[in-house]
Amino acid sequence: MSAAGGATTLAMSISVTFLGAARNVTGSRYLVRCGSAQVLVDCGLYQERELLHRNWEGVPFRPGELDAILLTHAHLDHSGFVPVLAREGFGGPVYCTEATAEIVRILLPDAGRLNEEDAEHKRRRHERERRKGRFPEKPLYTEEDARRCLGLLSPVRYGERVSVGGDLEAVFREAGHILGSSSICLRSRGGGAGEGASLVFSGDLGGPGRPILRDPEPPCDSGCVVIESTYGDRLHGDARDVGSELARIVNATVEAGGNLVIPSFAVERAHELLYYLSALLEEDRIPHLMVFVDSPMAVSVTEVFERHAELFDEEMLARMRSRRSPFEFPGLRFVSSVEDSKAINRIRGSAIIIAGSGMCTGGRIKHHLARNLPRAESTILFVGYQAAGTLGRQIADGAREVRIFGETVPVRSRVERLEGLSAHADRNGLLRWLESSGRRPERVFVTHGEPAAADSFAALARERLGCEATVPAYGDTVVVD
Ligand code: ZN
Repeated sequence: MSAAGGATTLAMSISVTFLGAARNVTGSRYLVRCGSAQVLVDCGLYQERELLHRNWEGVPFRPGELDAILLTHAHLDHSGFVPVLAREGFGGPVYCTEATAEIVRILLPDAGRLNEEDAEHKRRRHERERRKGRFPEKPLYTEEDARRCLGLLSPVRYGERVSVGGDLEAVFREAGHILGSSSICLRSRGGGAGEGASLVFSGDLGGPGRPILRDPEPPCDSGCVVIESTYGDRLHGDARDVGSELARIVNATVEAGGNLVIPSFAVERAHELLYYLSALLEEDRIPHLMVFVDSPMAVSVTEVFERHAELFDEEMLARMRSRRSPFEFPGLRFVSSVEDSKAINRIRGSAIIIAGSGMCTGGRIKHHLARNLPRAESTILFVGYQAAGTLGRQIADGAREVRIFGETVPVRSRVERLEGLSAHADRNGLLRWLESSGRRPERVFVTHGEPAAADSFAALARERLGCEATVPAYGDTVVVD
């Protein structure tokens, strides 16, 4: 701390309180304090069923006293709680990259609208069944709440030093996870000469060599890193096999005469799938099928991609230069209206249906699952992480029947997984990212993973980097000097 009166060279310490993604995956929220400054790094929704109550409970700080919110990326488990804090008094800037801001502008109002629809469904169901649920029969926030907070978005450039409150400065760097995703380095300006304390938040990290996006940049030099661990105990298959695996699954489903239903977030994963599908079509490795991206947001998100070619990797740039955009090919249809979405079910023969949400927790995928899970000839293909307690996880784990819209649905379809498409780095990718820093971190806090994954990665970091590595629990506070 600064000594009273006169200059001092003592560093201003930074404290971090872990309010989410602490021994679980979703709800990323880190309260950072430095002197009188107070910022929240990520402001995400909890999505695991047993932790949903935390979305409804108050936060242990006054939203109106925050200087700023910093978002690593647009996914709702990192950004989806902003409308709640804004409604409860937060009025400061929400710093994020331009691409993140553009995607957030699409996602948050949509989340608000889904909240309203879900609340209405719930209210009617409870009325019918004459019972009360665990949570209020009102939306967590409305579309209107979400639209109101969008004016707070304050875009920053990668590498730019941004003063985010008091003596605290932030620098965003490419994280290779989704378009606009970042790691964030926070640094306190020392009380006098030189730099003060610093720490890095990894955000969600992509693995190297993924299509479309550039690889993650190394973290800035800091002795202290908060790192995600979604796949902290696993290794992905070879990304080069993704095309062959996808071709095998598409061809087997066409032969069986069913649909290929792919639960996928409208942002990014759907675009990566299109990237692979368009390449397979060009190479004649799969037949020409109707491919539906059933998402009212997908068209707008595709436009964000097209506006941000500066974020593409070399391979994608080369494709764009030769006018072979993976987002346009014969048979590909982006579906916006509900009528067109329903019409997909009337199509005869096989089709590929990509719809959100990725973990089947809401959205149009539920209708396609209700239709296709009972059909032995259809295939459900999981391409992303399925958090514990989600419908996607139940199906992926081999449930013989599931509940959808209050009905029991038998599972007779094939269920496949394609791991190489993950937007998250695996165990080796995470370790390599830590090692790529100019300064070996001395303290590592492992977050954003189920306990087994986080513990396993912490043990690996201790062994390979010789650092102190811990897995903080919800509410823990640490101080960095
Ligand atoms: Zn993410």
